[in-house]
Amino acid sequence: MALALPYNDGVTPLPPLLDSLGRPVRDLRISVTDHCNFRCVYCMPKTVFGRDYPFLPRTDLLSFEEITRIAQLFAARGVSKIRLTGGEPLLRHGIEKLIELLAAIPGVELTLTTNGALLAQKAAALHSAGLQRVTVSLDALDDTVFKQMNDAGCSVAKVFEGIEVANAAGLAPIKINMVVKRGTNDHEILPLVRHFRGSGHILRFIEYMDAGSSNGWKLDEVVPSAEVLRIIGAEFPLEPIDANYPGEVAARWRYQDGTGEIGVISSVTQAFCNSCTRIRLSTEGKLYTCLFATEGHDLRDLLRGGSNDNELDAAIAGIWQSRQNRYSLLRVAATPTLKKIEMSYIGG
Ligand code: SAM
Ligand code: SF4
Ligand code: SF4
Repeated sequence: MALALPYNDGVTPLPPLLDSLGRPVRDLRISVTDHCNFRCVYCMPKTVFGRDYPFLPRTDLLSFEEITRIAQLFAARGVSKIRLTGGEPLLRHGIEKLIELLAAIPGVELTLTTNGALLAQKAAALHSAGLQRVTVSLDALDDTVFKQMNDAGCSVAKVFEGIEVANAAGLAPIKINMVVKRGTNDHEILPLVRHFRGSGHILRFIEYMDAGSSNGWKLDEVVPSAEVLRIIGAEFPLEPIDANYPGEVAARWRYQDGTGEIGVISSVTQAFCNSCTRIRLSTEGKLYTCLFATEGHDLRDLLRGGSNDNELDAAIAGIWQSRQNRYSLLRVAATPTLKKIEMSYIGG
């Protein structure tokens, strides 16, 4: 029997979707492009991706209308947060138009993660289109270290400019993500803390993950969050604070002197799969129920083959309801070597 969807009868609410471990679907991450103007060593290293890596042909990408249709279906099933990501989402031509379409979905918080290189140029238009907040990735305060990590010659000053313009445009509070890789940028933790403490921006430290197959991940290059907290706490005493909502990925800490808060994302040392409510839509319309999934579920053929909303909803529901993923909880020595989907394709 066909489901009664709100967009059909305008009244009947749909039951929330639960996966096979009882987790609801709450966050939808949408990768809007697989292209990037950076070649971060931990994500899309130049040695593997080069400058002319064969990225997806344009016709393979979901259109803004197709993305919006899927987002509406997810919103009807309980998704309350949408994050645009990539690749570098600000490289997708006309991204403001997509933001306008998504911002019109009621009850959904709309955010975007960017490397910041094009943010100064785009922030005002993104905000006017309805974007609420941005997260900016920044891995070092020192220009030489940062350029080594992004491998594209982007300066720290350029990212700072993006952060300031975004802040002034109203895309605040801004979260700043630092991926910490031992021996590469761990000495940049304290300089970034000193720089951002008291600014109102929230600095977050991400454990380097074994995402994709191209970054040559090694466990001993992971700096555990506990170590990051010890380093920061020795100079600026910290205390834990409550999560903003159940299932929040970053553990929150505040400076005891009242100068703000930081977050740590312990994807490797303290896996949070049990409360993982995230699903990812790839650039060409595949759904991934885990960052470490090897196979996606294609929706593009359904979208382009004339499926109605009931049929699409049934497909989405089936995918989420059969979800069993908890990769980080089960991570064993062998799994980092298995073939996985690149972070730049699926969206971080
Ligand atoms: N290009 C945008 C950016 O860098 O912010 C958005 C896409 S990027 C894939 C999303 C996030 O994933 C970034 O904050 C990035 O630092 C993080 N990331 C990428 N590879 C990672 C890895 N191996 N381990 C941990 N975080 C990673
Ligand atoms: Fe590009 Fe973001 Fe990956 Fe860096 S982390 S290569 S900016 S997609
Ligand atoms: Fe969620 Fe998969 Fe990450 Fe676990 S490993 S937290 S299930 S995305």
